[in-house]
Amino acid sequence: MDLFEKLNEDFKKSKSILLTTHVNPDGDAIGSQLALFYMLREMGKEVKMINHSETPYTLAFLDRGKRIEKYVPQRHDEFILNVDLIVFLDLNVPGRVVSMQEICQKSKAKKWVIDHHTEPADFADEYLLTAEACATGEIIYDFWEKEKPVEMNYDIAEALYTAIMTDTGSFRFDRTTPRIHRIIADLMEYGIRPDFVYEQVFDQGEIGRLKLLGSALETLALNSTGEICYMIISRKTLEQTNTDEADIEGFVNYTMSVRGVKVGMLFYELENGFKVSFRSKGNIPVNKIAAEFGGGGHLNAAGCRIDGGDFKTMIDVIIKTAEKYLK
Ligand code: 5GP
Ligand code: MN
Repeated sequence: MDLFEKLNEDFKKSKSILLTTHVNPDGDAIGSQLALFYMLREMGKEVKMINHSETPYTLAFLDRGKRIEKYVPQRHDEFILNVDLIVFLDLNVPGRVVSMQEICQKSKAKKWVIDHHTEPADFADEYLLTAEACATGEIIYDFWEKEKPVEMNYDIAEALYTAIMTDTGSFRFDRTTPRIHRIIADLMEYGIRPDFVYEQVFDQGEIGRLKLLGSALETLALNSTGEICYMIISRKTLEQTNTDEADIEGFVNYTMSVRGVKVGMLFYELENGFKVSFRSKGNIPVNKIAAEFGGGGHLNAAGCRIDGGDFKTMIDVIIKTAEKYLK
């Protein structure tokens, strides 16, 4: 029995299923979660989607029924402890579900991970991993194509389309294969309109978001060799522009548009500590750089969260660390 079959068997066997994904979910996280939700609901399952984070406003359109819940221990612990199956989507370490980690660990549910990161931590019973997949949404599509547990419909197609569109940077990153375009063509047959999805995801920000981008672009700087480009977003700038973390999605890509740059970084100040987004070109492994600071990710896109520490000092340390990988 291959993994797709095994997963389908586990779906069939389970009465209740929890679908969860990582902190600050992106389009692939929410899209994969909803696509599976729509399939499982049609299979007659009791399915809940519970996440550590609220769904960002850019993706709220996908969750028309407002079925994704933000984790509240008193409301959800009982369900999580007794659920038959937990599926972790788009993550490979349990810490990515933050406040839900402990209760998921305690749960007697069978645990599956569906993801496109490599080297997962040992925290689940089964792993459906395709490191070459451009998105977790691609793996969900593969599962659907292979097992056909339900008929494809608009809702599933829209969720998968969004997952793949966002994780391929609107079909431009290097894992955008001919097969991806064929999958997208197939999904479009169910009525997906690229202009509509793009507008929902990328054109719904307040004007403050663009002001924030303006301030972030002002901070752009290069290291001494010109191979690392970085930008900084402080709490102060967020307050001045009345924006939050959901608004910085995509900003890090500007660091990569400078000639000669191989590694891009965005330093984002949190209430206590900060978050770093890393991007790279070619085979510079930013997931290894992020791992030096407790984070992880993919070869060309990674991140970490650092608690406390002096912002300026840590920026220098991280740039020095990244420089080692350029040699
Ligand atoms: P982003 O910079 O867009 O937030 O994240 C890019 C990628 O880096 C994500 O898809 C995820 O694979 C990884 N990533 C981001 N933040 C973290 C983190 O705190 N821990 C781990 N393990 N991976 C992260
Ligand atoms: Mn992903």
